[in-house]
Amino acid sequence: MHTRYSFTCTRCGQNHVCDTGCAFEVPYHYFNLSDEQQQSIATLDTDFCTIRHAQQTDYFVHAVLEMPVHDDPSLMYSWYVWVAIDEATFKAYQDFLRGTAPAQKTVGWLANQLPGYPDTLNMAVEFHPRGNGMRPLVFFQRNPQQIAHPALQDQYGGFSVLKLRTLSEHLVHGTGLVDQPGAA
Ligand SMILES: [Zn+2]
Repeated sequence: MHTRYSFTCTRCGQNHVCDTGCAFEVPYHYFNLSDEQQQSIATLDTDFCTIRHAQQTDYFVHAVLEMPVHDDPSLMYSWYVWVAIDEATFKAYQDFLRGTAPAQKTVGWLANQLPGYPDTLNMAVEFHPRGNGMRPLVFFQRNPQQIAHPALQDQYGGFSVLKLRTLSEHLVHGTGLVDQPGAA
């Protein structure tokens, strides 16, 4: 479910047509590298990113975090986020995509800041591989440290059409966020 919808903007009065989705092109950690570091220690394509530090390598996968719109069941908001996973999970996921290993649900850590929410970087998530060209799904882990976080509440409880419009206005008119996503 990834539909477009239109609404009258409270900021400029115009009608905007927006996607019910929002894509981050890179992990926050990659965005924070210098141009030189991006060339020398990182790899990036549309699905995978690695960053080689002296002590360890960081692994990231492009995934989807969905949030339902509770007062319009025809809408589902999709955040195309990056998730940090450990090396073993990264290799197991690539084996799964090659068809040589079963899908493994595991843990990861969110690697983007969702606009309009308190700090979402490094929030713990469950990582669910899907295959068939579909990005893995991620769900916030309902652990005591983050159970009250508004983004977690919105994933499990949904948000309103009104909040969807506010978010879309935020993205249409720009906010100056450092890793601001583009429209999906
Ligand atoms: Zn507007």
